[in-house]
Amino acid sequence: MIIEWSDPGVEAVREGVETYAERYPEYADALRLYGAIMEVQQSALESISCPLEPLSPEEVESRLLSGEPLLDPGAVDIDGPAYRRVLADVCSAVVENAPEAFTLGEELLAWEGLSDERLPETRDLVLEGRDIDFKPAKNLSERDRKLVTDLLWEGLAPFYRVCGRILASKMEQSIWQRGYCPVCGGAPLIGLYQEEDGLWVVECSLCHTGWNVQRAACPFCTGSQGSLEYIYIEDDKTRRANYCRACKKYVKTVDSRDSGEALLLPLEDIVTADLDLAARDEGLTPATGRS
Ligand SMILES: [Zn+2]
Ligand SMILES: [Zn+2]
Repeated sequence: MIIEWSDPGVEAVREGVETYAERYPEYADALRLYGAIMEVQQSALESISCPLEPLSPEEVESRLLSGEPLLDPGAVDIDGPAYRRVLADVCSAVVENAPEAFTLGEELLAWEGLSDERLPETRDLVLEGRDIDFKPAKNLSERDRKLVTDLLWEGLAPFYRVCGRILASKMEQSIWQRGYCPVCGGAPLIGLYQEEDGLWVVECSLCHTGWNVQRAACPFCTGSQGSLEYIYIEDDKTRRANYCRACKKYVKTVDSRDSGEALLLPLEDIVTADLDLAARDEGLTPATGRS
């Protein structure tokens, strides 16, 4: 079984954002902001190439069988000038949509942590969720620190996406049923039930590869018995958080099989923020990547 997982492209993102903003006016600002970042990422995919040597089919199979993702994010050579260009576009997209919210763009782009020499180290810190030593003139608030780290992450995503779409194109998915991404080991962002076959497919938060997981047993731990449970909000069973009673991890999932709605999963993640709050109230935590 091979999961077909295509990139939406700039146009579909632009149209999708407007559709979502009409459907969810309370999230319109957040949707337009993130949509502008997605447009930058989609357009960057055209000009970035994957620096990895292709893996042989035997190597792919043996890695998947042993639970080893196909790439080590720390071993991917990120092209410094290309990364700084993408990040500059990401920053411009934020400033255009939320000028008040982000005033650190210039300082960030001039930060020496993004130099060719230091980029690998900064990349590792961002991917591991650790503090970076970016010190602008004004003290960084907690909110700004989180925003800066998020933007650095969003700038990295297309570099992993170009590798992910090559690596995943020939990946036999039935031998991988784990809770972390088979390509990069990342955490699932959010999932859906596929229209044609009802398969549960989750999308990676870093390389945006889609992979199939089973509902019959927990993909995040070995201590569970029986299938995942779910919570939902106010009768809307089409958006739910699937969780494991044993390890308390959850992944949000959209079931639009009967609605014919075109989904953009990263936007679904934004409009289901209430579901995250409800899940946290239940003592659940978002699924993590490979530890
Ligand atoms: Zn991934
Ligand atoms: Zn579990």
